[in-house]
Amino acid sequence: MTNYFQKELIEGLWRLISSGRKILIISHTNPDGDAMGSVTAMKHFLLSKKKESVIAIPNNYPEYLGFLDPDKKILIYKKDGAAIDEYLSGCDLIIALDFNQLKRVDELEHSIRKSKAKKILIDHHPSPEEAFFDLVVSTTETSSTCELLYWLLISIEELLNSDKPANLSSATADSLYVGLVTDTNNFSNSVLSGTFRMASDLLSLGVDRERLQHNVFGGFTESRMRLLGYLLQNKMVILPEYGAGYIILTKEEQREFDFNEGDSEGFVNMPLNIRGVNISALFTESEDNIRVSLRSIDDFSVNQMARNFFNGGGHERAAGGKLFIPIDKVPEYYKVSLRKSFENIKKGLLLMLIFVILFPSCTKQDRDVQIGQQIKEIDTYVRSAVNTGKRLVVNNGSSRVVINEGAGDSLMVGDSVFFDYAGYIFQSGLGTLFDTNVETIADITGINIYNRGFDYGKAVVGRGMLIKGLDWGLLGAKSGEQAYIVFPTNLGFSNKDVGLVPKMSPLIYEVWIKEIKKN
Ligand code: 5GP
Ligand code: MN
Repeated sequence: MTNYFQKELIEGLWRLISSGRKILIISHTNPDGDAMGSVTAMKHFLLSKKKESVIAIPNNYPEYLGFLDPDKKILIYKKDGAAIDEYLSGCDLIIALDFNQLKRVDELEHSIRKSKAKKILIDHHPSPEEAFFDLVVSTTETSSTCELLYWLLISIEELLNSDKPANLSSATADSLYVGLVTDTNNFSNSVLSGTFRMASDLLSLGVDRERLQHNVFGGFTESRMRLLGYLLQNKMVILPEYGAGYIILTKEEQREFDFNEGDSEGFVNMPLNIRGVNISALFTESEDNIRVSLRSIDDFSVNQMARNFFNGGGHERAAGGKLFIPIDKVPEYYKVSLRKSFENIKKGLLLMLIFVILFPSCTKQDRDVQIGQQIKEIDTYVRSAVNTGKRLVVNNGSSRVVINEGAGDSLMVGDSVFFDYAGYIFQSGLGTLFDTNVETIADITGINIYNRGFDYGKAVVGRGMLIKGLDWGLLGAKSGEQAYIVFPTNLGFSNKDVGLVPKMSPLIYEVWIKEIKKN
């Protein structure tokens, strides 16, 4: 597994970490076991390398994870904002763990955006905010951020001490184990073979499995257990027509059962234990919104559902978000979101069926044939643009049709670019919109596509920060230029389904270049 990473990546990661003198480690709001496990593991690792670091999170962690912060050194923006900002002013490296978009750190976002420090992101959610970070290690092919972090730390150890087996301190191993068991819900979901390999390695490193197991999945208060009983008996609702269930936990009930942050850990999984229930939601009323937790088994994407209906996101089978409606409207809203989600799936299936009819099977050879076909279609498309007098630029197989010319310096490898963009699936022109940073365009689809906020796209070009077709297609553009950049799937997401983009889709981006900064 450790050779899973390219040597250059590990070297680059270590270079950034080792040159950091004052390091801030951050994770997302309402931190869970994976967030707390990964930040504390990183802190222990840095300590073993004699590096100064501080952990900052937007709001407090649940009480049951308190054992990860025995001397209460973790800073919480809600109460330690000034101290965090002060630390940030002299900080030269920020390591962000277990979230994809910076808005996931809520109040902390502004301070992080302002900081001049180098920034690393290590995460396992889809759609990371790549342009903001100097180095991104992101894959959804891992159970947890802690698992990803484990393999990275082991790889760093191997890089530094190639002559002996990699070692991590038992404190680091304990923290990593916590993220592993919480994000997999005690090895029941998102488990890959590497997950068990890691668990086995951690036991060899001396993890106190029994103690951690009790801390994470036991050690509840009596009132929490009684609340669970009450909810199962009185509040769990099953909707057989959708194969779904849900629980609503009101503020009044929280008061009555002496509810603490973290007490509801695991509640959302309960309806999934019922035969025929594949989708589950927990709605927790809080001061100014309703927190939404979603889980699924089977192939239902709660990530998509959270993005479309609950102002959130997450993973395919575990996601969450927020609602800003009266609590008594939640049952109806949930039903509508289920109905619409199933309608969207039907539409998607139809699209897939059309794809399958067009491209019946998908061996490597067939993929090459598809790519050849796409190149031809793109060629026809750009030729017709050229015939209307538009300028065409082709870089490494990515075609750029210039709609409005810009002026000034041309964008070269290593230069920074700020641009607005809208990405579509190429269907002899603009097909389905799948990503944009422009709010008015996103509005047309009726959904806030990535729930990301609407900043400029920003990147250093030719450095692999963007997908290849865009990275290369932008070369030579000038400030003020508006263009279409079209490329076949091998310069896009290739044989992978990504968000709204089905595998093997050719892509077309409309871009508006706002500013170029020469290297
Ligand atoms: P939980 O249900 O445990 O609170 O969250 C499950 C997963 O959903 C988290 O690991 C995180 O990936 C995602 N998630 C939860 N809340 C939000 C949210 O408000 N926004 C986004 N984008 N993701 C969320
Ligand atoms: Mn996680």
